[in-house]
Amino acid sequence: MASSRHAIIAGAGIGGLTAALTLARAGLTVTLLEQAPALSEAGAGLQLAPNASGILAQFGILDRLVGLALAPDRLRVRSQRSGADIMRMPLGPVAELRWGAPTLVVHRGDLQRALLDRVAQESSIELRTGMSVAGFANSPQGVSVAVKNGADVQSLEADLLIGADGLHSRVRKGLGLGLADQPHYSGRTAWRAIADGRDAPDFALRVETSLWLGSHAHLVHYPLRQGALVNVVAITDDPWRGVEDTNFWSQPGEGAQLTRRFSGWHKDARQLLASVREWRRWPLFDRTPTSRWSIGRVALLGDAAHPMLPFFAQGAAQAIEDAAALGAAFTARGAGGPLDVQTALAAYEAKRVARAGRVQLASRRQGTIYHLPGPAALIRDLGMRSLSAENMMSRFDWLYRYGA
Ligand SMILES: Cc1cc2nc3c(=O)[nH]c(=O)nc-3n(C[C@H](O)[C@H](O)[C@H](O)COP(=O)(O)OP(=O)(O)OC[C@H]3O[C@@H](n4cnc5c(N)ncnc54)[C@H](O)[C@@H]3O)c2cc1C
Repeated sequence: MASSRHAIIAGAGIGGLTAALTLARAGLTVTLLEQAPALSEAGAGLQLAPNASGILAQFGILDRLVGLALAPDRLRVRSQRSGADIMRMPLGPVAELRWGAPTLVVHRGDLQRALLDRVAQESSIELRTGMSVAGFANSPQGVSVAVKNGADVQSLEADLLIGADGLHSRVRKGLGLGLADQPHYSGRTAWRAIADGRDAPDFALRVETSLWLGSHAHLVHYPLRQGALVNVVAITDDPWRGVEDTNFWSQPGEGAQLTRRFSGWHKDARQLLASVREWRRWPLFDRTPTSRWSIGRVALLGDAAHPMLPFFAQGAAQAIEDAAALGAAFTARGAGGPLDVQTALAAYEAKRVARAGRVQLASRRQGTIYHLPGPAALIRDLGMRSLSAENMMSRFDWLYRYGA
C-alpha cells in the first residue's frame, strides 16, 4: 500500500521541506532529518520565479506569504558606468498572465517559516533536527540510513532516501558517481547583504528587481518586506583565495574591499553598497550536469542533484520543481497499481535530469554574458536595447512556463 511507504529526506532546506510536503500528499510517511540543531532563518532574499511559485501555491504557501512577499513590477537592467537603463522587462500582472503564476521576491526566512508551518500541519511528516545523515545501505528490500546525533549513531530503516542535503551532499557521495563528480568553483564570489530600508537610497525601494551589468561583476537588488529591507547581491569575478577551506563559507565580508571593487560604478550603485552594514560572502560553486541522480531506492534533489550558479536565480526554483516531480512519480500508477519505489525514483530522475541540466548550463553561460568586459559588453547592451518586451519575455518562456 502506498500509505505504508516511508521516506527519509536528508536536509530541510527549501528542497527538503517542499519534498516532504509533496511526498506526504502522495501518501507517504516522511522523516525529515536536518543536521542543524535548529533551522536558522538565514538572512537573504530569494526571487521566486513563476515555475516555482505556481507549485508553492498548490500547497497554500503563497497565502502564507501575503504581506511578506513582493511582486516586482519589472526587471530593470542598468549599466555599471552610466546608470542608464539597458532594458526593462515587465513583471507583475503581465508576466503572471504569460507564465501562469506570479514572480515574487521574498525573505528566505519568511519562505522557510511558511514551509515549516505547513510541514508542522502534516501528521505524516516528522522533522528531526540535530540529525546528520552519515551514510546508507541501499538494498532491493529497503534502505538503512546511518544517522549521527552528536557522538550517537543510529540506523533508521526506510523504503527510500532522498538526498536534499545541498552542494556538499553526503548522500551524493554515497551514490558513488565517480571521482570526477566534484563541486566546481566558478572563480566568482557572491557578496550578499540585507540593507535596512531606512538606510537605503530611495531608488532601491521601488518595487522592481534591478540588475546592474558591469565588467567582470554584476549587482542585483530588490526590496523585501514592503521596503523595510533591501536585498543586495554583488557578484564579482575575483577568484577567492580561501576556496579550499570550506570553513570560509558564509564568512563576514569586508565592505572596504567591495567599495574598492565598485569604485568606478555609477553613484546610485555606490550609494546602495555604502548603505550596507554587514556583508557575507559566498564562493560560487556548481557541478557539471550528470545523467544519474538515483540508484535503487536513493535519489537526489535540489542542490545535491544540480547545484547551479545563481545567474538565473533558479536554484531553489529547480529544487521546488524536483519536489513536485517526485510527488507526481509517487502518485502515478502503472498497470499493477502504484509504481514500486525504484520505478518511481527512476521516473522522477527521467523527468528532471535534462531540464535541471539545461538550467545549470544556461546559468553558466548567463554568468559569462553578464560579466562581459569592453567592446563585447557594448555589443551585448546594443542587442538587449534592441529587444522588444515581447522578445525579451519570450526568451524566458522555456524556463518560467514549465509545468513540473
Ligand atoms: C548568491 C545566491 C543567490 C541565490 N538566489 C536565488 C534566487 O533568487 N532564487 C532561487 O531560486 N535560488 C537562488 N539561489 C539558489 C538557492 O539558494 C539554492 O539553490 C537552494 O537554496 C538549494 O536548496 P536545497 O534545499 O537544495 O539545499 P540547501 O539550501 O543547501 O539545504 C540543504 C540542507 O541540508 C542540510 N544538510 C546538509 N548535509 C546534511 C546531512 N548529512 N544530514 C542532514 N542534513 C544535512 C543542511 O544543513 C541544509 O539545511 C541563490 C544562491 C546563491 C548562492
